[in-house]
Amino acid sequence: MKLEKIDIRGVQVCNVTLEGAVDYISEQLRNDIPTAVYTPNAEIVQLCIDNPSYYSIINSAELIVPDGVGVIKAAKILGTPLREKVAGVVLGERVLQLAAKENYPVFLFGGKDASRCEAGQSVADQCKNMMEKKYPGLNIIGTQDGYCKKEGPENDKTIEAVNASGASILFVCLGAPLQEKWIWENRDRMPGVKLFLGLGGSLDIYSGNTKRAPKIFIKLGLEWFYRLCCEPWRIKRMMQLPKFYFGTKSYKRKLKNKKTTK
Ligand code: UDP
Repeated sequence: MKLEKIDIRGVQVCNVTLEGAVDYISEQLRNDIPTAVYTPNAEIVQLCIDNPSYYSIINSAELIVPDGVGVIKAAKILGTPLREKVAGVVLGERVLQLAAKENYPVFLFGGKDASRCEAGQSVADQCKNMMEKKYPGLNIIGTQDGYCKKEGPENDKTIEAVNASGASILFVCLGAPLQEKWIWENRDRMPGVKLFLGLGGSLDIYSGNTKRAPKIFIKLGLEWFYRLCCEPWRIKRMMQLPKFYFGTKSYKRKLKNKKTTK
């Protein structure tokens, strides 16, 4: 399946709906085509603008979906609107449903280890328990918390564990851009994995440790505000949002001026 890509300040975002993204993933899995899925928001696009070396990492994914109103607004400003926001956490859950239905074994990598969790169990293990109950037939064949080293011998162990598990789907939930960089650096070492998903804090949500914003916030495009109220430490990262928004407006103005002076 060929995807239409839209250039958002240098990041090649796919113009898909949630259903389109699920169909694409399902077809890639059926055809055994290795696929990475990234879900950039405005912060990540701004990170690429500020550090252009990230472009090749982010743009290396086969499926890049817009996870955030910032990216959707930017697409409108640029005159190339995207169909809809595709939230990574929702897409990830659809992938779990697909895995349960089609018998794809899943490995979960990321989230806090047991010593940092009140439940005395890592977030990934809590997530395994909850999701296997919620989706009968789902086989979460392995888990690894995200607080191990991401390079050297400790990282080799993570990769060996994934390979030994026989997983064909790997959730990498380390937060952006760490997870995208990790997938980019390591995907070729896991030939059995056909689908790599970089999904930030999704395991925290599936395991019930973090709540997603109420529907009204999501509908009004204010999920970021809800997250900020719950986790005020995000303020520094979120300052990237206005920088990206106004930067995109001025970028568009410059593009227009260039056209009219030609
Ligand atoms: N995390 C991890 N290893 C690390 C750093 C972070 O597993 O070295 C996890 C962290 O526990 C959290 C997730 O990565 O579950 C990041 O979540 P956040 O919501 O900040 O990510 P975002 O979706 O905003 O990129």
